[in-house]
Amino acid sequence: MFTHPANLRDHLAALRGRVVLLMNAAFLTYAVVTTLLSPVPITPDALMNGPHKYRTWAALLVTLGTLALWRWPRQVRLVYVPYLIMLSLLSILEVRSLRVTNTAPFHLALWLTGNMAVLPLIFGSRTGAKLAAGMIAAILVGLVSPQADAMGLDGYALADWATTLIVMAAAAASSTMLMQIIENYLNAHDRTAQALEDARVDTVTGLPNRAISEARLDAAVQDAHLHGTPLSVLLLDLDHFKAVNDEHGHQAGDRVLRACAERIAAHVNVPHGLVGRWGGEEFIVVLPGLPEPEARRLGERLREVVAATPIGDLPLTTSVGGTTLQRGPLHPAAPPDLHAQVRENLVRAADLALYQAKRSGRNQVCFLPLNPA
Ligand code: GH3
Ligand code: MG
Ligand code: MG
Repeated sequence: MFTHPANLRDHLAALRGRVVLLMNAAFLTYAVVTTLLSPVPITPDALMNGPHKYRTWAALLVTLGTLALWRWPRQVRLVYVPYLIMLSLLSILEVRSLRVTNTAPFHLALWLTGNMAVLPLIFGSRTGAKLAAGMIAAILVGLVSPQADAMGLDGYALADWATTLIVMAAAAASSTMLMQIIENYLNAHDRTAQALEDARVDTVTGLPNRAISEARLDAAVQDAHLHGTPLSVLLLDLDHFKAVNDEHGHQAGDRVLRACAERIAAHVNVPHGLVGRWGGEEFIVVLPGLPEPEARRLGERLREVVAATPIGDLPLTTSVGGTTLQRGPLHPAAPPDLHAQVRENLVRAADLALYQAKRSGRNQVCFLPLNPA
């Protein structure tokens, strides 16, 4: 059921809605069945003012709640608040009337207990536990508040009330503890997801790191094979960058790296394209769908934007090596590890092209054909 961990909170929210709908359906079924089974004749007066009246009101409210939830599925808590108010009021009223007849609150006890189990799920462990305690307190108030016409509760009725309250408290406590475990896991999951997200990004440049770049390149190779589209790769290596560090310090070097990364990333606007930090002062640019001539032009453009203006008074240039996986779907008999091989070949060819650009004097773009895998 939980298809993606990132959606756990969404799943929990959806689960809340389903649980409330389930409880509503259960209550409406109960209201209809018990009214039909009751020996009291079903007349409008009996429904609205007679012995069925609390059930009728509650059923109307539950029907309204179901409609509201259908209209605003995300407002589970808001929809549930009127139920709580109603249940608390009904509890006090019915408890007081039951004190007059000295009877046991069998149906009410069951519904209150069911409600206790649901509260922490809907409102979270803390609020749910508080609301549950509030409802138990409301019943206690109903039991002990002065009432002129009430008989004293006998031992049997007292035992029933005590049992009701104890089971309610136990149901609320169990559900609260279960919800605490779920919340702890959700929080731990959020922290892990954040840590993973942080680990994906290179801290100096804010670009995807090497591992992520490799994974994205792999995915781009698979896509290119699947759709028979071209795929170009550029490797950029800043020229004489060591001199920046040597002359201006490592921190200045970091600032220059960050500024370069921003310039490069700002000029790569290819759908599903990627600019990643490949190594020390090397960047990779993955260009799905771009044939060689366009990739060359973009490489040239990137070379220009790095060299165009000095970064913090430091003139800088970059060499660019590139290669292209030409258009063409994968042969059906291709071995399964071909994607990885092609990825390695792309990087190797771009790296060789970069080396050639360096050897030819730096600050230039060089392309080499991709060796077939
Ligand atoms: P070339 O034109 O041949 O590429 O010369 P280069 O000086 O750029 O090449 P080399 O590989 O000799 O030096 C790369 C330098 O990049 C060395 C290292 O100090 C620096 N570098 C690598 N990573 C970082 C980083 O994260 N921050 C800073 N400030 N410098 C880095
Ligand atoms: Mg360099
Ligand atoms: Mg280098």
